[in-house]
Amino acid sequence: MTQRLVIIGAGMASGRMIEHLLDYAPDAWHITLFNAEPRGNYNRLMLSPVLSGEKTYEEIVTHDDAFYADRRIDCRFGESVTRIDREAKLVHSANGATPYDKLVIATGSAPFIIPVAGKDLAGVVSYRDLEDTNAMIAASRPGAKAVVIGGGLLGLEAAAGMAARGADVTVIHLMGHLMERQLDPAAGYLLQKDLERRGIRVHCKGATKAILGTDKVEAVLLEDGTVYGADLVCMAVGIRPETRLATDAHLEVNRGVVVDAQMTTSDPSIFALGECVEFDRQLFGLVAPLYDQAKVLAAVLNDGVAAFCPVQTATKLKVTGCDLFSAGDFADGPDREEIVFRDPSRGIYKRLVIEDDRLIGAVMYGDTADGNWFFQQIKDGTDISENRETLIFGPAFQGGVQSDPLAAVAALPPEAEICGCNGICKGQIVEAINGGATDLGKVRACTKASASCGTCTGLVEQVLALTLGDAFAKPAAQSICACTDLTHEEVRRLIKGQELKSMPAVMQELGWKTSCGCPTCRPALNFYLLADWPLDYQDDRQSRFVNERLHANIQKDGTFSVVPRMWGGVTNAAELRAIADAADKYDVPMVKVTGGQRIDLLGVKKEDLPSMWADLNAAGLVSGHAYSKGLRTVKTCVGSEFCRFGTQDSTGLGIKLEKRLWGSWTPHKVKLGVSGCPRNCAEATCKDVGIVCVDSGYQIGVGGAAGMDLKETERLVAVETEAEAIEITVAFVQLYRENGKYLDRPYKWLKKVGLDWVRDQVTDPEIRAALIERFDLSQRVYQKDPWAERAAPEEARRFHPVATLSQEAAE
Ligand SMILES: Cc1cc2nc3c(=O)[nH]c(=O)nc-3n(C[C@H](O)[C@H](O)[C@H](O)COP(=O)(O)OP(=O)(O)OC[C@H]3O[C@@H](n4cnc5c(N)ncnc54)[C@H](O)[C@@H]3O)c2cc1C
Ligand code: SF4
Repeated sequence: MTQRLVIIGAGMASGRMIEHLLDYAPDAWHITLFNAEPRGNYNRLMLSPVLSGEKTYEEIVTHDDAFYADRRIDCRFGESVTRIDREAKLVHSANGATPYDKLVIATGSAPFIIPVAGKDLAGVVSYRDLEDTNAMIAASRPGAKAVVIGGGLLGLEAAAGMAARGADVTVIHLMGHLMERQLDPAAGYLLQKDLERRGIRVHCKGATKAILGTDKVEAVLLEDGTVYGADLVCMAVGIRPETRLATDAHLEVNRGVVVDAQMTTSDPSIFALGECVEFDRQLFGLVAPLYDQAKVLAAVLNDGVAAFCPVQTATKLKVTGCDLFSAGDFADGPDREEIVFRDPSRGIYKRLVIEDDRLIGAVMYGDTADGNWFFQQIKDGTDISENRETLIFGPAFQGGVQSDPLAAVAALPPEAEICGCNGICKGQIVEAINGGATDLGKVRACTKASASCGTCTGLVEQVLALTLGDAFAKPAAQSICACTDLTHEEVRRLIKGQELKSMPAVMQELGWKTSCGCPTCRPALNFYLLADWPLDYQDDRQSRFVNERLHANIQKDGTFSVVPRMWGGVTNAAELRAIADAADKYDVPMVKVTGGQRIDLLGVKKEDLPSMWADLNAAGLVSGHAYSKGLRTVKTCVGSEFCRFGTQDSTGLGIKLEKRLWGSWTPHKVKLGVSGCPRNCAEATCKDVGIVCVDSGYQIGVGGAAGMDLKETERLVAVETEAEAIEITVAFVQLYRENGKYLDRPYKWLKKVGLDWVRDQVTDPEIRAALIERFDLSQRVYQKDPWAERAAPEEARRFHPVATLSQEAAE
């Protein structure tokens, strides 16, 4: 008979438990799932990559609507359970009482808030859920001041995320060095130096006295009198198990809800799991033990035999570029010895703590490749007396001979743990690979290895490489190109965070493997540097694709197409005459009207380009940038000036937009459309930005496409005035310039960052103003007509059509 299972909390622990439970017995339970958050289960660990902009919320959802629907789970999201009535076996919420046969409490933890004056001011957040993350994202506009109280794992991930978005971040930490529970002072020092290099200020031994402000937070005052200005304060000083429901229901509660090895509370019908529980006087704050609990509880609920037995966990920090690993016990002690390796110039530090010829602790900073091997030695209690001298150098040096780079992974026994979060060992991954999981995605789907915090991704890839040999191809999309292992997102973040303002600085500081890059990375770096540092960086023409170097589109016969700009698609007799004259003079074989309402002179010989541009310039025409990763066209309809349906002056708005935006370099081409009414004659709803005028104002849609992909725009906002429509559009384009991946069209970028985030940015008056200011600043440097520069004809001569055509195709 189906039993009623009520679960309070749709977090990491209960999510995993539900998966196991329904694997065992899909029809045995009718599940009602309450969650205080207005959503189902997502990978909470991955909030940090969302904060730093490396992932979107959509990418970290673990259980979507279809998951719950397929399993007929009654989802009560956004509904908190307020009381448990054990006698009547009911849980109470705002919508009434829900009966249960079995109840699971999985309420996680609540962030600890230090009881200082000002803690309730607007702008003080903790770091626990998506709302906190979104608040930090919204506050992290470039130049904004953020203070993070707490230099532990969460605090540092919050600090790095906000710094990556351009905020000026200060970390205040009570203790003498960062992450003192996981790191010794030497490793803590290296971590601090790395963070400071990214522009994050670190104040250790800092006790917060008060948070200052009237309506909202303005500053943080320390006991020593130091004051840090703050637009946002994130308190990340620890967590407390969320036990209120259990306490009120008179269950046994100590620091957490007390459970036995079967996750049963003091009431046999009520179970608990996750961060809210206390087992054997221990609390749990990492997912690895919670997933073990989930497995045990699922078995117990299905009348199986299982017992929870906590195992050691290792710690890693999810901040790109800060490689840190710590495991075991590394405190000093009378019978303990230590082996230390330091390479200050490379920022590498390793410390092993040994007791009775056994490794009991390991701290590593800068090079953590051997972390899992050391961790395995700690867990196994391996006698290290034989290899003590070479132990610190890791598995590659055991036996005195350095072997290949995969040696560390090769040396791991099958039972060695690779994915700490999910407890997946090397043998399970190898088995999955041999069973057909031949890439990272398949291994993840099959075993869950690297699916939680993601820090073991590199290791899983090494197991793939080791098992498959040459047949394993690491997905090229991950890094920009073979010159670096860094992704576009990481490089963009580091260019901003480390204030890298030239191509050599990027390559030097970020460890490029080639001395001067390649045709794939150079155009991307050129764009990122130009977009982020318009005043400091000099555009490098040699790093542009050939069309941009020659200011014209190469055609298949080696001739060029020349497209003069026509503001908003409007021209006049004088311009048409000049175009006709140029067509005659240079013997242009085809004159064609484009889809973007421009006139295209096709088949122009390369040696004629400079003089044709000069002729067109003389008639007041400038380049239409029909070849660029920048603003292409603003297509308009005739609007209210001539059309009887027109609600606003769509042509006039299109011209104003084009005059404001032309000449701005963007990650990929940008096309706009403005229609005077919803009849949409300018086809605005498939443009990167499409404005549809209505009686009440302007509906602005973004992220349309009408090429390889066909996509309708999504509504960004509706505004009343033309001035607002221009402001929103400019801010949107600048946001895309500052955050987009090179060669991602806006619709692809939007999919990654999420429309909500973009809307929050461009509708916030302060953020919008700052975006517009940075856009206009860049335009003052870069808004110029390339035809007026008369591109050097010798460059045209050097250019080889076949090679460059294939390069363009690669775009
Ligand atoms: C930013 C961040 C980064 C992290 N990184 C790592 C990491 O790298 N590695 C690692 O191992 N761990 C990490 N953690 C910790 C990890 O996320 C937690 O250990 C894990 O999420 C705890 O799972 P849980 O199911 O116990 O609680 P949660 O995932 O917090 O879920 C509990 C849910 O219960 C809901 N709830 C509470 N009270 C009620 C109520 N009365 N009624 C209804 N619903 C209720 C809450 O809203 C919440 O959604 C991180 C945590 C954060 C916040
Ligand atoms: S979109 Fe509307 S206003 Fe513009 S031309 Fe078409 S019918 Fe006229």
